Amino acid sequence: MTVSASKSSTGFDRFGLKDSLMRGIRHAGFESPREIQLETIPAGLAGRDVLGLAQTGTGKTAAFALPLLDRLLDTPRKGPRALVIAPTRELATQIAAEVRTLSKYTGLKSVTIYGGVSIQGQVNTLRRRPEIVVGCPGRVLDLLQRRLLRLDQVETLVLDEADHMFDMGFLPDIRRIISALPKHRQNLLFSATMPKDIRRLADELLNDPHVVELANAAPAGTIDHALYLVAEQRKRDLLEHVLAGDDCDSAIVFTRTKHRAKRLANQLTKAGHRAVGLQGNMSQSQRDRAMQGFRSRSYDILVATDIAARGIDVSGVSHVINFDVPNTPEAYTHRIGRTGRAELEGVACTFVTSSDRAWVRSTEDMIGSKIPRREVEGLSLDAGFVSDHRRQGTPRNKGQSRGKGPSRSNAQARTNGKSRNNGKLRRDDRPQSTGRTRGDGRQDGEEQPRSRRRNAGFRPGSQRRTR
Ligand code: AMP
Repeated sequence: MTVSASKSSTGFDRFGLKDSLMRGIRHAGFESPREIQLETIPAGLAGRDVLGLAQTGTGKTAAFALPLLDRLLDTPRKGPRALVIAPTRELATQIAAEVRTLSKYTGLKSVTIYGGVSIQGQVNTLRRRPEIVVGCPGRVLDLLQRRLLRLDQVETLVLDEADHMFDMGFLPDIRRIISALPKHRQNLLFSATMPKDIRRLADELLNDPHVVELANAAPAGTIDHALYLVAEQRKRDLLEHVLAGDDCDSAIVFTRTKHRAKRLANQLTKAGHRAVGLQGNMSQSQRDRAMQGFRSRSYDILVATDIAARGIDVSGVSHVINFDVPNTPEAYTHRIGRTGRAELEGVACTFVTSSDRAWVRSTEDMIGSKIPRREVEGLSLDAGFVSDHRRQGTPRNKGQSRGKGPSRSNAQARTNGKSRNNGKLRRDDRPQSTGRTRGDGRQDGEEQPRSRRRNAGFRPGSQRRTR
């Protein structure tokens, strides 16, 4: 393929992609390929199976979409010819949007199928035999079993966020879907982590795969992450403190349950924040409105559960705040992957209580490094449970809330004396929680120490000393 000099301004030229795709890449505004794309696209174009170990935010969608689209263009015919499976509606929608952007000038068509909305529109679109189907396992299987979806012409299968499919109990559905596909096909499997069931699935599914592993499940280098030790009933105060930081422009706050997400979003709204919840009890249109409002910055704070927030791509989120620790260490990298995306800086704060010790241990084991500890005067637990706990200078003022932890220090760039007033979290009346020591009963009555069973990755036999 030849690309004229005037058009060859993107680093994507090296792949020899079709002109119509190169136009799509320019339309998407991509200038140079990301690491995962450099590593994956040539193998994908050559028709090889690929195992990509990369978290959301690294550019993995284009890494599988570009070769897939290019190969579809080789021999035009009706679909479905490519099946992309994602664990959540949000991720499926996002993938489909990126596929549509990249394929804008190709004439290739796609459909997005997921539950929770009327099936009829999806069935109507499928009748037009689009080449690409992007969907969630449940609805894909449903349509397949009702013979409204044919998969016998599929040439390429993509499983995205495979570890989440497993977490969400989708593996049996996936296996049923796979059994309806032609034996001879290309398989591309992406996962941020490799729990043993996913490794087993990869072994069964992939034929001599090209393996690309990005920085192993470790948090993106652009994320400054820290643990805050706090008593359960002081989490709200600590949250106000973090939100009040000069560097906090927008935040996703994760809670353990739908109920807690809803309640915290309401509490934050009452306190004058522009906050919205995103949780599984909401209808699809409520969820779309919440996401749209957060993307367009009508809201600065999105309070979400893991499942609801999985795969969402919101550029420019400055903070991910784990109000409750995630269920598994693996979920940690997924959550904090919501910030520091596309090589922007991000801050991830995790509130840990004394009942989260095992989670801390297993998460640090998984990422292979210590997560720096932070203290906030009057709010931090005086807990000796973290052996390397060093007092890092107590942040008393806004903008000094992060010490320089070992993970990285873009912190300087954000707190180098400039007080940023533009784009800061807006609220009617900024609460001043910093430094307060009293317990004033404003706590969540519900919050109780959790069962240790949550810590799926925790090894009870571990010889490590309690930190
Ligand atoms: P993903 O990991 O696929 O969710 O991608 C994260 C974000 O990066 C998305 O908003 C993509 O549109 C964007 N992106 C992917 N590849 C590139 C690239 N080469 N240049 C700039 N942005 C990109």
